[in-house]
Amino acid sequence: TPHAVAAFSRIGEENAFAVLARANALAAQGRDIINLGIGQPDFATPGHIVEAAVQALRDGHHGYTPSTGIAPLREAVAADIHRRFNEEIDPGRVVIVPGGKVTMFAAILMLGEPGAQILYPDPGFPIYRSMIEFTGATPVPVPIREANGFAFSAEETLGLITPTTRLIILNSPANPTGGVTPKAEIDRLVAGLEQHPHVAILSDEIYDQFLFDGQAHTTLLAYPQIRNRLILLNGWSKTYAMTGWRLGWSYWPEGLFEPMRKLAVNAWSCVNAPAQFAALAALTGPQDCVSAMLAEFDRRRHLVVEGLNALPGISCATPKGAFYAFPNVSGTGWSSAKKLAAALLDEAGVATIGGPDFGVHGEGYIRLSYANSAENIARALDRMGQFLAKAR
Ligand code: PLP
Repeated sequence: TPHAVAAFSRIGEENAFAVLARANALAAQGRDIINLGIGQPDFATPGHIVEAAVQALRDGHHGYTPSTGIAPLREAVAADIHRRFNEEIDPGRVVIVPGGKVTMFAAILMLGEPGAQILYPDPGFPIYRSMIEFTGATPVPVPIREANGFAFSAEETLGLITPTTRLIILNSPANPTGGVTPKAEIDRLVAGLEQHPHVAILSDEIYDQFLFDGQAHTTLLAYPQIRNRLILLNGWSKTYAMTGWRLGWSYWPEGLFEPMRKLAVNAWSCVNAPAQFAALAALTGPQDCVSAMLAEFDRRRHLVVEGLNALPGISCATPKGAFYAFPNVSGTGWSSAKKLAAALLDEAGVATIGGPDFGVHGEGYIRLSYANSAENIARALDRMGQFLAKAR
């Protein structure tokens, strides 16, 4: 195999998609499968957003747009950041992308190369490590610990920085743990990063509207001292239940914006035009759809945590954000959380993801997405209880 293609063998997977395929295959055989595996809201995209896309098509928006996105949308992103955080961002540095993953891919591609180290959360979104390995850079896991509320520890993270560290990836609220890193810890992290000006930061804030109990989100955009090396990842997929639309946005520091613009021209030309008009409607339209979804997720969060804690061998800390529970299953007697997740799907008809799919520090945990109806969550917990009692 030629070298360039061989590098693709280093690309990993997001096992959630494999579990989704297996769950769908079992369902197609007539099995009743409850899917708590994949991380996507079970709601439909709000009607006024769908209408905006339909209207854009009727209005003749069928062609290429500027590669970085339509100007009103980039401005609406900046206005939304100002409305929510009172922070100014230059719309000229915003790039509309086909999904949050594309920002991740581009940032890691720009900063990763053999000899460079990239810090990433473990357990964390699996694509970080996969893309780091693709570039030949050395992935350096930052352990995310239950004992620390699944938050980043500034001290532990900063202690991993070396002269060859090129990028650090942050994610709060976090997938798969639901952990939220408190502002005081982010303050400490940023203060430490000021001592390491050679390190760029990719802050994945895709779950920034999924915070419970009235917590406020701390965006890395609020720290002017690191703004010149901050890449911000965000998007519409989760907030507005738009995972299948393939939409996201990112903010780029001065030296990286132009490479990103060129990558857009070369790789995808632009995000599909009607989807951009839908995104504009999402940001400029009523926001009560967001709070309604959050209230429903909160209700399910309590159901899932209470239900899990009542199961033998399982203990589940209450997640502070996103829509995942990450219970500790080490007391169930299963030596491998991946095997437990596979058995839950095959034998109990409940799809979850084994913690090791999110990194070595995910062993002993499974991830449940509670983006499913309260009724299905209750049924899934019931089945898990029966399964665990039997398997003991
Ligand atoms: N970042 C995190 C932490 C995620 O969990 C996800 C999706 O699961 C993404 C980014 C990617 O989102 P998108 O569907 O917009 O590519």
